[in-house]
Amino acid sequence: MIKQKYIDLLRVTPGKTIQLKDYDTGWAQTNGLKALGKDKIKEQANEILEKNLADLTQVQQLLYADDRYSLLIVFQAMDAAGKDGTIKHVMSGVNPQGCQVYSFKKPTAEELDHNFLWRFMKNLPERGRIGIFNRSYYEDVLVVKVHPELLTNLPDGKKDKTFWKNRYEDINAFERHLERNGTVILKFFLNVSKKTQKKRFMERLDRPEKNWKFSAADLAERAHWNDYMEVYEEAINATSTEWAPWYIIPADHKWATRALVADIITSTLRELDLKFPQVSEAQLQLLAQAREELGNE
Ligand code: ATP
Ligand code: MG
Repeated sequence: MIKQKYIDLLRVTPGKTIQLKDYDTGWAQTNGLKALGKDKIKEQANEILEKNLADLTQVQQLLYADDRYSLLIVFQAMDAAGKDGTIKHVMSGVNPQGCQVYSFKKPTAEELDHNFLWRFMKNLPERGRIGIFNRSYYEDVLVVKVHPELLTNLPDGKKDKTFWKNRYEDINAFERHLERNGTVILKFFLNVSKKTQKKRFMERLDRPEKNWKFSAADLAERAHWNDYMEVYEEAINATSTEWAPWYIIPADHKWATRALVADIITSTLRELDLKFPQVSEAQLQLLAQAREELGNE
């Protein structure tokens, strides 16, 4: 397990105003960690990841059997920050029956004809399950805020100056509603540097097996980097709550991202009062009868 004090540094305290530039994209949020050196940290991170993946398999079974809570994990990030790879690795030991991943793209015409939370509501995890949102309703206060021309279908009067504040409020209320109904929510912003994004885009261009991952649209969004950092900062500050906190995860090194995300998921599930369902007296009697019947066959 990663020490709580390091995790606390990545968790955005509700009500506190953070600046993304204060968050390390490498791995060391403290000088103490920096001093350990990259190789040592990487080795430890990989060990922690292995252990957490094994634990996650166990605790997910318990979540499923317990059948009262669900876990919603939201991933948001700039392109090439490693959302897909993180989801793939962290969930590798999880029973596919208890886990659903949804990747949200540009909304369809039907989706745009509904309120912005509609398509997400339809895909929330059931009790006992883990639901992963690869992009989410946060796109509606991120990409849409950077490109307000995307807001085409609203009555004019609704687009006043409280519009974004209202959306943050709606998101907080929505998440509050989910939490009150037994959904545990974790939100990860994978914090990649502009430099690392360039390096990963270059790899996509240079390596034939990675060509398919490159999209010209990604380059167009990169040109809005500063705007994105600003809207991320605003969204994170407005929506990190006790019931749905944001974690700002360093994303320049995949081993660091994966170890941190796996650790936070596993320890969050461990803190729940999960238990295998109790078998009642009446059920025990039925089991005894069944055993007798089978034995007498
Ligand atoms: P990958 O590139 O790894 O396949 P991705 O999540 O980047 O994964 P893309 O299809 O490349 O998938 O991108 C989805 C795009 O949809 C993103 O640019 C995102 O900003 C955009 N998008 C998501 N929600 C909305 C929305 N509500 N309005 C407009 N664009 C949106
Ligand atoms: Mg993409």
